Amino acid sequence: ATPTAIMVGIGKGAENNILIKDAESLELGYKVNAVILDKTGTITEGKPLVTDILWKDELENQNEYKEILLAIEAHSEHPLAEAVVHHLKDENIEKAEIASFESITGMGVKAQTEKGSQYYVGNHKLMLEKNIQIDASLMQTAESLEEQAKTVIFLGNEKQVLAILAIADKIKETSKKAIVTLQERGIEVYMLTGDNYKTASAVANQVGISNYKGEVMPSDKAAFVEKLQADGKIVAMVGDGINDSQALAQANVSIAMGKGSDIAMDVAKMTLITSDLQSIPKALELSKRTVLGIR
Ligand code: ADP
Ligand code: MG
Repeated sequence: ATPTAIMVGIGKGAENNILIKDAESLELGYKVNAVILDKTGTITEGKPLVTDILWKDELENQNEYKEILLAIEAHSEHPLAEAVVHHLKDENIEKAEIASFESITGMGVKAQTEKGSQYYVGNHKLMLEKNIQIDASLMQTAESLEEQAKTVIFLGNEKQVLAILAIADKIKETSKKAIVTLQERGIEVYMLTGDNYKTASAVANQVGISNYKGEVMPSDKAAFVEKLQADGKIVAMVGDGINDSQALAQANVSIAMGKGSDIAMDVAKMTLITSDLQSIPKALELSKRTVLGIR
């Protein structure tokens, strides 16, 4: 495309809430035949709310654990942590004192109280990894909550799971429509998420995606982009988080959510200002018009 066509294209993008940083993505967009979507914050609102807290049978001092949980999650910047903090503050829970805090990539967080006890908050994988036992009945409840597309996070000490929390994140109203539009144009749509398999599958089913993966580490997201590219695909990666930045950097066309993290927007060559996925087919169409010189 001519420099003038590119300028016009970037201007048209801006009118449609699509911020385009470079000419290359505008020239490549129409060739995209595989789109990878992150789940949390991309397909979903990314504004999770705690719907249930369930305790291990006969556990006393629940409030004390809530205070510890609040202190731990207040240290984390994960959207799930924000939901927990919001919920516990609404219950007027006070914060305990934390001596150390560490995040564990793709799994959750670890903290130590001033008294020296260790706590873990995160997904089931984290509990398995740290050999933290969970009651069978509590695990059953966790699984049924996940089948309802809720994300379950676990609070454990070094020995056992003390509580599970169910968190629901609404699917954006326009996500399904945008996905169907892409599929109708013959573009393969994939979903990758760090979230567990059950939640991943429940969300994927609701938006009509049959190609999805759960419990994906950030580096695996990038490897998956590479794999599709090795199969000859021109890949667009769409994400909102730090955990998507490697995959965004690897993709042929990279698209960030305007409501997402600054890092994703820095890495990505395009940003959807309103975070509406319907801007993806629009952006690809705009690329086509730009390259073909249609005004
Ligand atoms: P994603 O944003 O796609 O879910 P992440 O790698 O950020 O991927 O997180 C993976 C998983 O680790 C989350 O889905 C959640 O289960 C768990 N996790 C991460 N941070 C926290 C936290 N602060 N509190 C509870 N769980 C967490
Ligand atoms: Mg995300």
